[in-house]
Amino acid sequence: MSLYFHKLNLRHADIAINWAGGLHHAKMAAASMFCYVNDIVLGILEILKVHRCVLYIDIDVHHGDGVEKAFYSTDRVMTVSFHRFGDFFPGTGQLEDIGVGLGENYSLNVPLNDGIDDEDFRWLFRPVIRKVMEMYEPEAVVLQSGADSLTGDRLGCFNLSIKGHADCLRFLRSFNVPLMVLGGAGYTIQNVVRCWCYETAVAIREELDDQLPDNDYHDYFGPNYTLHIDTCDMKNLNKPEKLVEMRNKLLDQICRLPHAPSVPFLTTPSITQVPARRRRKTIWMKDQSGFRLEKQN
Ligand SMILES: [Zn+2]
Repeated sequence: MSLYFHKLNLRHADIAINWAGGLHHAKMAAASMFCYVNDIVLGILEILKVHRCVLYIDIDVHHGDGVEKAFYSTDRVMTVSFHRFGDFFPGTGQLEDIGVGLGENYSLNVPLNDGIDDEDFRWLFRPVIRKVMEMYEPEAVVLQSGADSLTGDRLGCFNLSIKGHADCLRFLRSFNVPLMVLGGAGYTIQNVVRCWCYETAVAIREELDDQLPDNDYHDYFGPNYTLHIDTCDMKNLNKPEKLVEMRNKLLDQICRLPHAPSVPFLTTPSITQVPARRRRKTIWMKDQSGFRLEKQN
């Protein structure tokens, strides 16, 4: 797992993907649902050894509670979670949960109802994330791209098409910030595979044929054998006036951020840069010219 983050840290890649990761519910000392270790938190800590601040975005249908909890009181990681809220696991992630102490306003929650479609999701996602990018100026972005927010998921209750889901990644790619993309959940497996296949293509800016090529698993993808799937006619229970009110509140919260996280702060050096036996303390300092790195014996 850490290899992916090191590639970003060393700038050997501008985007790294680990579809097997994204276990966002695990806590420091407790497994939760299917998440037994929080690879996201561990990875972000790795990125913070080299980068000033990280933006974490979660579009799984469930709240990204484990990641939010880990960074709830710091401004070096901003978390933004779009999720089903109400009588739904894990039951956290209200609009009012904004972080504490130094982390106040650096946790953003977008609680949604059943049946949200591509149009409404994009209407929320793009302006909120654009404002976060403008105000927070993250040096790296981590996206948990859970596929249980797709239409027809066995556990999820949103109505996103694969293109609608992938629009989040497409939008993030447009900022040209180092990007880590992780999987997460997804319970209608044929659609999970379709989604992450298409998103891999979006990540590397390729277009794919809608007709699936012949392969050993072809029979799983009938009756249409296509990459994309139709959304269903479920009712969208997200009322327009509520979405407007929520978007305004979210944008207000983002506008309360200072333009950069507070400094100075301490960090330890990346293990990819300094051999363990000769590891020295690394201190990031801020002066009039910006950030500079100081190493002490
Ligand atoms: Zn989930």
